[in-house]
Amino acid sequence: MHSALVKKNQIVSAESYDESIHGVEICCMDQKCKVPVFFVRGTVSLNAHFKTSGKGASVHKDACGFAKPLSFQDTVSKVGEYQESILENNTRQIVIRLSMNEIDPDYEKKTIERNPLDKEKKKPEPVEESLKTSKVTPSSISSLKAVKKLFTTVSPDILAGIMLSVKGQKIPISNLIQSYSEAHEALWSGNAEDVPYFVHGCIEQVTRRERVWYITLSRTDKGYFSLIVFDRHFNHFTYKDTDLIGQEVLAYGYLVKNDYHKGKQSTEMVIKSNQYIEFL
Ligand SMILES: [Zn+2]
Repeated sequence: MHSALVKKNQIVSAESYDESIHGVEICCMDQKCKVPVFFVRGTVSLNAHFKTSGKGASVHKDACGFAKPLSFQDTVSKVGEYQESILENNTRQIVIRLSMNEIDPDYEKKTIERNPLDKEKKKPEPVEESLKTSKVTPSSISSLKAVKKLFTTVSPDILAGIMLSVKGQKIPISNLIQSYSEAHEALWSGNAEDVPYFVHGCIEQVTRRERVWYITLSRTDKGYFSLIVFDRHFNHFTYKDTDLIGQEVLAYGYLVKNDYHKGKQSTEMVIKSNQYIEFL
């Protein structure tokens, strides 16, 4: 793990840990765990980090985000748990730009004639940058696959330090990547941002009408959540019902309220192509 809890409930990153300032009592940063951990100095091949000894009290508890590899969904939930304290402590902040235009079939690419020499200039990040974080986190995200990869390969305490840069705002990643029921609640309680969201959930039902398709996620007592495909995008969305029903997916789009379901709050997300969902 890259961050740990030291005295005064402060969270420090391994890079900035200093025994003379932070003391030798170091604990797992997961509030459900807090077992003693140890500092491991960085080497040429490995960044400084914290770890348990695996003996006695120094073993992560079951509910801890570092006890075992997490599923995509569990990582999303742990990042939500950690984000506030990581950002509060100013432990580490990584900004990732969200640029999803490429997946949008309606988006007109700017046809700028590129000089082949320009490509040459597009070199990878400078070395200093890669020493810090770009080894594990990209500088931008342009697909749902990249989001899935991020949440299944990067540890939750690093993810909790990520801010997504979208439409000129910087938003904590856990605000924009949520379970569909949390996103639904955020929207209806007035806490949603006017930016696209990533939500995960299980597809329960697909209803195909002449002009519009409804892909409904598992119903909760809070209301309905449906992914919507309009007829002008039917040719971009080629999954069959059997590909979809019962599957856990990540979907991308704006959250929209729909009062049509009388008495029940219904949230809709318009999707335009296969690329707007990713199977988990
Ligand atoms: Zn732990």
